[in-house]
Order: sequence, then C-alpha cells, then structure tokens
Amino acid sequence: MKRVFVACVVASVSLGAQTRRSVSLVVTGGTVITENGAHRILTPGAVAISGVDIVDVDTPAAIAAKYQAAETIDARDQIVLPGLINTHTHAPMVMYRGLADDLALRDWLEQYIFPAEAKTVSPELVRVGTRLAAVEMIESGTTTFVDMYYFEEEIARAAIEAGLRGVLGQTIIQFPVADAKTPSEALARAERFIREFKDNGLVVPAVAPHALYTNDKTTLLASAELGRKYGVPVIIHFSETEDEVRMARDQYKMTPAAYLESIGFWGPKTLAAHGVWVTDDDIAILKRRAVGVAHNPESNMKLASGAAPIPKYLSAGVAVGLGTDGAASNNDLDMFEAMRQASFLAKLSTRDPTAVPAQTALDMATIGGARALHMDHLIGSLEVGKRADVITVSMSATRQTPVYDPVSHLVYVTRGDDVRNTIVDGKVLMKDRRVRTLDRAAVIASANKLAEKVRDAVKR
Ligand SMILES: [Zn+2]
Repeated sequence: MKRVFVACVVASVSLGAQTRRSVSLVVTGGTVITENGAHRILTPGAVAISGVDIVDVDTPAAIAAKYQAAETIDARDQIVLPGLINTHTHAPMVMYRGLADDLALRDWLEQYIFPAEAKTVSPELVRVGTRLAAVEMIESGTTTFVDMYYFEEEIARAAIEAGLRGVLGQTIIQFPVADAKTPSEALARAERFIREFKDNGLVVPAVAPHALYTNDKTTLLASAELGRKYGVPVIIHFSETEDEVRMARDQYKMTPAAYLESIGFWGPKTLAAHGVWVTDDDIAILKRRAVGVAHNPESNMKLASGAAPIPKYLSAGVAVGLGTDGAASNNDLDMFEAMRQASFLAKLSTRDPTAVPAQTALDMATIGGARALHMDHLIGSLEVGKRADVITVSMSATRQTPVYDPVSHLVYVTRGDDVRNTIVDGKVLMKDRRVRTLDRAAVIASANKLAEKVRDAVKR
C-alpha cells in the first residue's frame, strides 16, 4: 500500500515538472507593486525569477501553474516591490557616523571629516566600512547603491561579496588624499578601476570628480573625458550649498550648472548629487544634457544646505533619484526614511501639501533612480526581462495596521527594519531578515574594533 502511494506521488511530480518550466525562485502571495509604466499593482501577485532575470509577474495561481521553483518565498501579508536604489552615498563613511554632528557643510567637511579621513582612510577602513554599510543596506531594502569614495576597488569587492549592485565612483579631488597624491594619480587610479570592473555583472565603475569647488577645470574635464572614453557614469556633488553657488558666481560669473556647461563637462551619463541651489535655466541645462539628479533630503536638512526644487525638476522632465548621502550626514542608510523626508521636505519648502505625494517618492526611490542612472532598462521596476532586484516588506506591525493604500504605507509608515527579504540579481541576500552573504556579527565586531583607531585619530 505504502509503495503504491510513493509511486503515485513521484508520477504526479514528474508530470508537473514536464508541464511547468523550472525557475530558480518564485516570490508569491504578497501585494506586488511593479513600478511599471502603468503603476500596475497585483493584490495578490507573484514574481518568477530565472537566474538573474525576472521572467514573469502574474497572479499566484498563474505563476504556480506555469513554473516549478527551486526556492519559494512566501510573501503573504507583505508588499513585494523593486529593490530600492540609493543614488548617492559614501558607504565607508558609516565609520564616521556620529563623529561630528550639528555643523554646516564646510565646517563639518574641513574641520572634521577631511582631517579624520586624512588620518584614517585606508583600504582596511574602506573594506570594513563598506561591509557594515552593505549589511545595513541589505537589511533596509537597498539593492543598488551609488558610491563616491577612495580605494573604490575595495568597495567594489565588498559589494560583490555582499551581492549588492553598485555604481561605484573613484573619487578625483585636487588635494592629496589617502589613495592619490595628485589629481593625475587619482585619474590613473580611476582608469585602472574602470578597466578592472567594467565587465562585472554587479558593479558599474564610474569616475567621481568630488565637486566644482574641490577640482580645477583641467581635472574636471579630464574626469569627464575618462567617463566618455569608457562609456561609464560621471558622478559629481553639484550646487549643494548657497556657498558653492556664490563661489562660482564670484570666480566664473556663472552658476555651477552654466559653468560646467560652458567648459563641456556635462556628458551623456552624468549624475549630479544634490542640485539644491539651481535656477530655471540650470534645470533646463540638466534636462538638455540628460543629467540625472540624486536628491538627498535628509543630508540637505541636517547640514541646513536647503531644499532642492524637486517639483520643478520633475515637471521639467529631469530624472530624479533619491539618496541618503554618507551616513555621517544622515545618519543612516534607510531609503524608506529618505522617501518620507523627500515628501515632507517638498511639502514644507513649497508650502504645498500636494507636493511630492507618496507615489512620487516611491518612484524616485525605484524607477526614477534607475532613470537618473540611465539604467532603467535593467532595474527600477518588476518587469519581465529586467534584473531580479526585489524586496519584500512586512505590513503587519501595529503602526502599519490597517492597510488601505500600500503605497501610502510604504512611504509614510514603513521603516527599513520592516524589510523581510532582499534579492539582487536573482540571489537571495537576506531571507526572513537573516543576511546570507555576510557574517553580520563578524562585520559589526570588526567595525567596532576599527572605530578605536578612528577615535584615537580625532582626539584633540
Ligand atoms: Zn555626498
């Protein structure tokens, strides 16, 4: 009797396998927010993933009928959405989190951050810091991060180890820094970095001239030229403070956007971080040059830099993504908080409560970020043929109850800690809040150990 029963089970499974396509992963049962062009939401829905790609998005019953999954994630009572894209950060700066707060950008940079970096930035600090940042990002639903720092190859290796997607820019700066004594050394370093990682599936190497106020014309143009030569992104801090605009007006009799336009800096894949102080003409230049903007509401508020005119950018058709900036000016890497603050800051600064509604904030953290990076053919939405960068978010906390509108809840009440599963390139980096790719306890222990060095270095 028992033998007959086993035979029947085997037959039905093999029959199922013949009719259903094998895929590596299915995420099923949650509310699926696709972020596609029609803002399609499936309640409930399911996503089928084969290797690194999304192969289907449909109802759970339809997906179950079509696919046999090697691994299944049950996302009932959760929201399934595209992984969040942090378009501006400096991952290793988690090591300087809380080191100096409550200062204006220039004092903060010149009196604390640059000196602390001069004494402590090393391949080890960058490696340890990026691992720590990677765990934080995976745990809070970020699947792609855009970085600008030193020893960027260490960041690339840590990102690959963690399984995160990164657009990673080697910093070019006029003064001597830990990984380069001169701008030409930095440029040579950036070129080596680009060559090493240009064919990597997860890492997009980039050139990152720090800012207009920290580089001369020759260095800015050489950076842009390097980006063009290899067809890689160029990332720059841009019009972040009123001070920066004043300096440009004094020195060049132009706004930063107009000056960078006049020297031929803006290229086809440029990402400008901040863009707080811009005129309508500046916005028109950015639109014409297809420059993406990385908006960092929390950093801009903390450093009192100002409020970027996000509604104006969006109505002009400029691609805007969201960023946290480095953890020393935020002080975390939680993109849910960035969404919420982007919405609130826009409302407060325009005195218009309809400015940057929840859907717009979510767009900026997903498909908008992808557009700003010129990567919307690959990431930013749950659509067939795109890379499988997917997160699931629990919706069962008291503060999330009841759920009338999932998009409202994602932006206005959800926190990074509510993320349950994080998937990048079809690989599950965190399952039920357990990070699989890095040893969380070991990462935290080595960061704490290294913090002793940072503490000693900044003792006055
Ligand atoms: Zn920054």
